Amino acid sequence: MSLGLPLVARGKVREIYDAGPGQLLLVASDRISAYDHVLPTPIPDKGRVLTQLSVWWFEQLTPVLAEFGASHHLISADDVPAEAAGRGMLVRRLEMLPVECVARGYLSGSGTVEYSRTGSIRDVALPAGLVEGSRLPSPVFTPSTKAPYTDHGVGEHDEAIDFSAVVSAVGVSRAEELRALTLALYSRAAEIASGAGIVLADTKFEFGLAGDSLVLGDEVLTPDSSRFWPAGTWSPGSAQPSYDKQYVRDWLTSSGWDRVSPPPELPDDVVAATRERYVTAFEQLTGRRFG
Ligand code: ATP
Ligand code: MG
Repeated sequence: MSLGLPLVARGKVREIYDAGPGQLLLVASDRISAYDHVLPTPIPDKGRVLTQLSVWWFEQLTPVLAEFGASHHLISADDVPAEAAGRGMLVRRLEMLPVECVARGYLSGSGTVEYSRTGSIRDVALPAGLVEGSRLPSPVFTPSTKAPYTDHGVGEHDEAIDFSAVVSAVGVSRAEELRALTLALYSRAAEIASGAGIVLADTKFEFGLAGDSLVLGDEVLTPDSSRFWPAGTWSPGSAQPSYDKQYVRDWLTSSGWDRVSPPPELPDDVVAATRERYVTAFEQLTGRRFG
């Protein structure tokens, strides 16, 4: 896409442009990544779903951020070049903190693996007898490193760190603030999702600084950064049906792909079913039709 703006960076999913002093334009593409690879087949409309869902969540979460003296980075999703309409966000340019702030309210994926081995998640001890899909007694902050070129789907290749590593990276008071704000945002978002019949199993936030205050950046609470399960079928004990990328990960696994060689093209029916899941997540959460 040529927007007549200088390209700052190209992630697996998004292009980042310089939009003038102190501002960036984040443009979400239809690319989908899994297991650290960009798949060769795009998912139609995915970029617009990610952007519009993020925009909606920024609005929902503004009061929680304000309680912490924090804010979000969105300036406008309308004031963007026509070529990026619907998929672009004009944002404040931030100094991003080197931590991915993950909150988990339910046991899943790498959380289940860690719990099965140690009975805890990071430095948080958990009761015995939990299984894949179990609700945790209370949500847990499970940060990871923000390594370049990783996939930010929760529980993929980001390196898990414990709270002391966050303290080393950003200092104790900032670390405590990140943990408290992450858990507060998760709890509010889980409550909103629950009202829409969706279980928010876990999610990942990224924060930056504007001066001395925390600013919520990046995308928020999308199917790429979160696990969304239909509440009606939630049943701990095995993998849950989901509105997130898990469907594509499962298909890739069943295709026999080794996660090392170039990933296979997705068949049309898998593309359509994936698109459907992203759109359903948007419509069910927001109560709006996607268009
Ligand atoms: P990939 O998705 O390929 O794993 P990535 O996460 O770095 O890599 P994207 O998610 O496509 O790439 O692009 C978003 C990038 O922009 C992230 O590195 C994120 O930390 C950064 N970012 C998000 N919001 C801001 C902001 N307001 N100011 C500066 N950087 C930001
Ligand atoms: Mg990212």
